[in-house]
Amino acid sequence: MWEPEFLTTRHVIPRSHPRVESLLIRKKLVDGFDSGLVAREGLLAQGRGEAFDYLLGEKTGRPARRAIRAAAATLTLAEFPVISVNGNAAALCAAELVSLSMQAGAKLEVNLFYASKKREQAIVRTLRKCGAQKVLGTSPASSARLQGMDSARRMVDRDGILAADVVVVPLEDGDRTAALKSAGKTVIAFDLNPLSRTAQTAHITIVDNITRAAGLLAADIQKIAGKNAKVLHQIVSEFDNRSNLADSIAQIRGNLARRGGLA
Ligand code: ATP
Repeated sequence: MWEPEFLTTRHVIPRSHPRVESLLIRKKLVDGFDSGLVAREGLLAQGRGEAFDYLLGEKTGRPARRAIRAAAATLTLAEFPVISVNGNAAALCAAELVSLSMQAGAKLEVNLFYASKKREQAIVRTLRKCGAQKVLGTSPASSARLQGMDSARRMVDRDGILAADVVVVPLEDGDRTAALKSAGKTVIAFDLNPLSRTAQTAHITIVDNITRAAGLLAADIQKIAGKNAKVLHQIVSEFDNRSNLADSIAQIRGNLARRGGLA
């Protein structure tokens, strides 16, 4: 007989449930939606991510580890890194993103696809509760346009993303990734879908669930803190995003073969 260990507003999720991690991540999104952090469309984006996480085996694979290491070196070398935060990212891992920003010396900037002042403020409050001192992206006075985009996401902070040399984009859309790249930024993406335009466009794509990978990235930055710039540049130059994405796709293929009884 199981004991209910996790209570949600709608269901009881026992710890012994085979899909407990996934259900708890889903719960974070639903709670985030109920509290005004997440847009309805964000729930669908989570669904797409979940499907890929399932295919990846719901664990951080070797390709993700390699991307995380390259991202850690890139962030350590960066002069002005910024982490872009949307509703899903805030609902899933606000604390990890705040600690990543501290570890990387990066600024946090709210940037929404479905813009809403109310949601912006809810995200700022959540990040502050987790220890963020300053969150950019909400002041009309410092708002600027990113060239080459039509959606609301073209609005960025002059003192944040517009000035950044490295931008971390969790759960991003492809147009903005391309616009950031065209603006000369180095783009690091968290994206469970190795086939998305974002994954294919970013300089470094971490194909992993952000709930696992954000903390691993902060830990890797800490690990490489003592290394000199030459070693860090070497880590970055040895990383090839295209072949790493191919390895993530191979990870999915391997899983399908094993679990589909083909191996
Ligand atoms: P693109 O424009 O890059 O092709 P898309 O239109 O497929 O992206 P969006 O809906 O803009 O996707 O963004 C959601 C993306 O975030 C998807 O690629 C999805 O796989 C990914 N994603 C969703 N949840 C997570 C998560 N928890 N961790 C990492 N990635 C996630």
